[in-house]
Amino acid sequence: DKPNCKVVLANNIAKSLLEEVHEGLKNIDRKPLLVGFLSSSDPAARVYAEWTGKTCNENGFTFELRETDRELLEDALLDANTDPAVDGIIVYYPIFGSRQDQYLQQIVSLSKDVEGLSHRYIFNMYQNIRFLDPHNTKKSILPCTPLAVIKILEYLRIYNTILPYGNRLHGRTITVINRSEVVGRPLAALLANDGARVYSVDVNDVQEFTRGEGLRKRRHEVVEKPGWTLENCLPLSDVVVSGVPGEQYKVPVNLLRDGAVCINFSSERNFKPEVKEKASIYVPAIGKVTIVVLLRNLLRIVQNKIEEEAE
Ligand code: NAD
Repeated sequence: DKPNCKVVLANNIAKSLLEEVHEGLKNIDRKPLLVGFLSSSDPAARVYAEWTGKTCNENGFTFELRETDRELLEDALLDANTDPAVDGIIVYYPIFGSRQDQYLQQIVSLSKDVEGLSHRYIFNMYQNIRFLDPHNTKKSILPCTPLAVIKILEYLRIYNTILPYGNRLHGRTITVINRSEVVGRPLAALLANDGARVYSVDVNDVQEFTRGEGLRKRRHEVVEKPGWTLENCLPLSDVVVSGVPGEQYKVPVNLLRDGAVCINFSSERNFKPEVKEKASIYVPAIGKVTIVVLLRNLLRIVQNKIEEEAE
């Protein structure tokens, strides 16, 4: 007997998101320009840059790659910030591999930051502030990889649309294995802000992110779960999202709830093929969705700009 797990590929999810992006582009009278700055010697950065370029060109956006000596990057970013032809800026990291990289992240203008890495955007995300203006016309930008996971959960109907926007994960329990500042922690916060009970697992401990019973709190709060491990979290979880780097790490499939939804965002496979014996849905990779989310962010930035010009 074969198990009944549905494997959902990122490509199919990306396609449905692209339709939304194409619709949005119809209301804009030009091709938005995304400029990528490549100063990183990491070959993965170049691959990501090429992949961004390809996805842009195929979908009605213009992409320009600027290979810049890292010592000149700061000035190059300041020029792009003030150049009206440039709609969005993406910088490929790591560059210095130190706090200087965070400094450079904060140089990119808020109005061009398609990656959602500016302090204001990150602050809004953690504080559950969804709009940039008091009239709620301009949506805040969310970081691409965490947002890609959310778009996948929407596609899979884990978000319950019968509930109001902002509460659609109420009743869901989700484990996120990874608590990096770029993916795991923002993801846990976003999911909890949308109403889920989230177990955030890293190499040291487990934390619980929730808006409290009955979602009474306006934004998530975090508590330590002393002594907890995956043995406590996985049997309780409707959804398991894993992003541990390295070939070695494997989520213990035996602890999964029967019918759990499993999503891997690590560049290595965090789930062994046996995951299909237990899971109802398995998403083995998400990279293609992340790139489309980047284009969606660029579109949003252009829409915000048009909104601003109309005011
Ligand atoms: P990172 O090294 O900054 O963080 C790794 C996280 O995993 C940490 O929180 C660490 O504590 C945790 N971890 C490590 N070993 C663990 C263990 N045994 N048990 C539990 N937790 C453990 O990495 P990152 O930047 O968050 O990236 C993680 C992975 O995601 C990488 O493979 C990266 O390539 C991938 N990634 C994918 C996308 C995408 O769109 N697909 C985007 C960004 C990153």
